[in-house]
Amino acid sequence: MLQETAKAAWEYGRQFLMNGRVADYIPELGKANPVYLGLCIKTPDGKTVEYGDVEQRFTMQSICKVVCLAAALQQEGFDKVFSHVMMEPSGDAFNSILKLDTASNRPFNPMINAGAIEIINLLAPTFAFSDLLEFVRAICMDDDIVLDEAVYRSESETGDRNRAIGYLLKSKDVLTGDVLQTVDLYFKLCSLSITARSLAGLGLVLANGGVHPENGIRLLSAQTVRTVKTLMFTCGMYDRSGEFAVRVGIPCKSGVGGGIMASVENRMGIGTFGPSLDEKGNSIGGGHALEYLSRELHLHIFDSETG
Ligand code: GLN
Repeated sequence: MLQETAKAAWEYGRQFLMNGRVADYIPELGKANPVYLGLCIKTPDGKTVEYGDVEQRFTMQSICKVVCLAAALQQEGFDKVFSHVMMEPSGDAFNSILKLDTASNRPFNPMINAGAIEIINLLAPTFAFSDLLEFVRAICMDDDIVLDEAVYRSESETGDRNRAIGYLLKSKDVLTGDVLQTVDLYFKLCSLSITARSLAGLGLVLANGGVHPENGIRLLSAQTVRTVKTLMFTCGMYDRSGEFAVRVGIPCKSGVGGGIMASVENRMGIGTFGPSLDEKGNSIGGGHALEYLSRELHLHIFDSETG
């Protein structure tokens, strides 16, 4: 039954692929094949249901912002984190520098580039890249995650806008560490190579209150998970977060590599991969597949019918 719904969601999402295009502002991402679409659902009782291109590796990109926020909340605590970043949707593009210069010293939220770079500034004194890689592997339930060197190089070569954000934060004394090292760590985390399955794993750990469902180990506190999911819901889909909340109604986070990670409270983690993106940078096939699943399975948080 769930398998049939997943296949139907994939078929629905696939119809939209030609309306989008792959990201090419990071040249290496421009090589992605826009016809890929994969969908993976993992449930707390150990079931995995998947359809399409779920084996295909792609880079995490902005979805790493969720992991960085979670690690910072665990390590530094709620008050410290939110003295460095705010919790408000920005309504601007993910890489915008505008409000950071005009409206506030602190980045609007941890799901935009400025916010993630500031969060990484908090993490950098405590965590090396290798520590964060281990954390990502555990929380995504995927030991095969590695750095995609080609994407990392490509990001670094074209990443001056992110460096500019870092320097602006430094000029306001909000970022206190070394700008180039901080942004470099951000590029590495964006360049971790994952699959739709890894994203379903991450979504499931979040849906399960921060506890790994297979080994029972608590990876995140309940408060961390609540905060992360709320910010995914309000800010996770860039400047389409409001529309996504209405249409899909699931906390989600997208990345320009084509991934979307979704977390349905107590019920499932969902990972989608489709590198054809809408004009805001969200996977167009993945977004529509999620909308289909939400409708069919009553996954919207304000849906009064149950699945
Ligand atoms: N590495 C990308 C960037 O900084 C991540 C952005 C994204 O996925 N939206 O531009």
